[in-house]
Formats: sequence, structure tokens, C-alpha cells
Amino acid sequence: MSQPVPIEKKVLILGDAPDAGYVADELVRLGYQVAWVCAESAPRPAAPAEPALAEPALPQALAVYEGYTLTSLAGHVGGFVARFAGDGGSLELGAAALVVATGNERYLPQEYGLPLSSHVLTVAQVQRQLDAPRVTGAARPYRNQRMVILLDLAGETSKETATEALELALCIRQQWHAEVDVFYRNLKVDTYNLERLTRQMRDDGIVFCRYDALQMAQQEEGVALAYEEGELRADLLILPEQVRPRSDTPELAALLNVHVGEDGYFQDVNIRQYRPGLSNRRGIFFAGRCHLDGGPAEVRADAAHAAANVDALLGAGYLQPEEIIAHVDSAKCVRCLTCVRSCPHAAVEIADHENAVAARVVDLACRGCGACVANCPVRAIELV
Ligand code: SF4
Ligand code: SF4
Repeated sequence: MSQPVPIEKKVLILGDAPDAGYVADELVRLGYQVAWVCAESAPRPAAPAEPALAEPALPQALAVYEGYTLTSLAGHVGGFVARFAGDGGSLELGAAALVVATGNERYLPQEYGLPLSSHVLTVAQVQRQLDAPRVTGAARPYRNQRMVILLDLAGETSKETATEALELALCIRQQWHAEVDVFYRNLKVDTYNLERLTRQMRDDGIVFCRYDALQMAQQEEGVALAYEEGELRADLLILPEQVRPRSDTPELAALLNVHVGEDGYFQDVNIRQYRPGLSNRRGIFFAGRCHLDGGPAEVRADAAHAAANVDALLGAGYLQPEEIIAHVDSAKCVRCLTCVRSCPHAAVEIADHENAVAARVVDLACRGCGACVANCPVRAIELV
């Protein structure tokens, strides 16, 4: 059996705020040296809520690099080397593990049909009106009016933006004393936070209306809506944005050699048992909205989960290979690359090894699945 390999407790986080910031907070609190690299300028994460008791987090435990984009990733778990390019030149960072927390993208679906106007606003636009200082009077025109929050108009609204829309509905009910109706097709109230929120919304007089077919028409003074159970006129129609995977996800996945699912988001590995947040590569983890759909509470919980995944791997200060791993007989290998392509965990590389250029299994990265053994045309690999 291979010997344990000592590692430095250094973690690299890729992504912009807030998802990446939550993970950085958690890892610093757990006592890790964290390098947070973001493509855009990002606010510094808040100080940890509770100081760590055993190993107090040092101020220098977190380094933030803004405006850098990943250009390559070499190495494996315990010894990754990432290279970046940015306005400030190139950057090279080493880490034992890596967390991807790049988030998602927002857009307004064209299928909504209605153009934005003074009577049709997005959730974000209404939120800005709510947040406007009272002295400007920005909120006054909306007081005591009838407002409709419209979910699921272009397919099911994501949980992330639906949660924002529902929270906004409660705010405008309480602050503007508006009559608020929430139209939905398929509202999933499957978390404690959402259940509590929707219960409070009903208690505060917000009406939930389920629709299958909906007709809308912009009028001079508002929007007319007709659905199976009747008609109503809204002074203000509020539309949530939709989310989708970031457009650079395939490119980043190729650099990291990790999988992307059919939905376009980073795909959690599903071998032996489902482990949320684990990629197909040992030592690379996903956190937040780059791999899940959820409201702020779920994103924060997932960041804590990602940090716990990292700690489960690196917490002991050394890495241990799996009990059964693959080994290549370099004398038999004909360098056909079949094993490099077929390894689901990116654990095989071609290397100059024992005075021969041949396939080589990286012990720490191998999960012992046997795929390479089954696929090698000259039977040069065995599990040991
Ligand atoms: S599949 Fe077999 S022969 Fe081909 S590179 Fe891998 S070990 Fe060598
Ligand atoms: S057994 Fe082979 S295919 Fe499976 S993880 Fe190890 S090197 Fe990759």
C-alpha cells in the first residue's frame, strides 16, 4: 500500500462574489491558506462570524487576486499549479485543492413577450425602487397599487430568482401596502426557508394564483391579465430574471478537465454514491450556483458544504491513495492514449518514467475504478 503524502493546507478558489466569498470565509475559518482569484473586482468577504477556537485564522490566510482569468491547470490533488493572465500580468499559484465557485448568468427571456415599461418591471428594477432613499419620493407612485409577480412564464422560474421575487412580494406588501398577487405554474416550496416565507406571505394577505394559460395585454394604465379563473388588471407587472450557466463554463471545464452536465452546469460526480460538490477529479470541488439552483440560504449552505468537503480531504495534513489503484507496466505500454482518454478521473498522464515514455497513473488521483484496465489494448495496466 502506498505511503501517505504530506500536503500544504492551501486552497485555490475560482469565482466572483458572493459564492466564492462564502467559501473563502469558511475555509479561512477552518484554518486554510486561501487564494481567491476572481475575474472581476470583488468585495472582500466578511470577517468570520465566530473566531476559530483551535487555530485562529491569520489575517494573511486570505489573498485576493482580482482581474485574472485561468489559462492552464497542471498537476493533481495535493499539488495543483494554476496559471492566470490579467491586467497585472501573469500569475502562478499552487494549491492542494481547488474550489470552483463561478456562479451563473442572469437574463430576461425573450419569451416573456411584454416589453419593459413603467408598468412592466423586473424584480431588480423594483428592488432598486424599494431601496431608493425615501426623500426622493421614488416609491410614492407605487403605494396602495395592485401588483402581480409573474413566475414560470417562460418555463419554470429558477429557485434562485423565484425566491428573490417572493421576498420582494413580501417587501412591497409590507412597505408599499400594495395588493399583491403571485401568479405561478409550478411553485416548488421544498425548503424550510421557502415554506416559512410563503406562509408569512399568505398571512400578510398575498394571494397565490395558479395558471396554465395566461393572456396579457399592456394598457395605458397597467396590464390586463386573463387566466382560467378570471381576469384582473395590475398597475405593475413584475417579472423575475432567469438564470443559465455562464457562457465560459465549457472553456473552464476543459482547462480543469472536469465534467459539464446536459444542463450546461458543472456536473457533480456520481460514483458509488451521490456526493454533491465533488467533481470527477479528486481535489476539485464545486460550490454555489455554478452547480446548483438555490436561494441565498442554499448557496451559503453549499459553500459551507464545499469547505467541509475540502476539509475532509486535506484536514489531516496528508493524502492517502485509495487502497486499490491502477499501475502501468511501462515496458508493455505502446502510448496509444486510450487510458488517458478513458480515465473518468483524469488520473493518467504520459510521462517519462523509469527511463521510458509511457502512461503513468497518478496514485493520489486514481480512484481504482478499473476503466483503464478494461480499455488498454495491450493489457499493460492492472489494479494493485
Ligand atoms: S491504454 Fe495501455 S498501451 Fe495505451 S497508453 Fe494506456 S497503458 Fe499504454
Ligand atoms: S483505475 Fe484507471 S481509469 Fe480508474 S481512476 Fe484509476 S487510472 Fe483512472
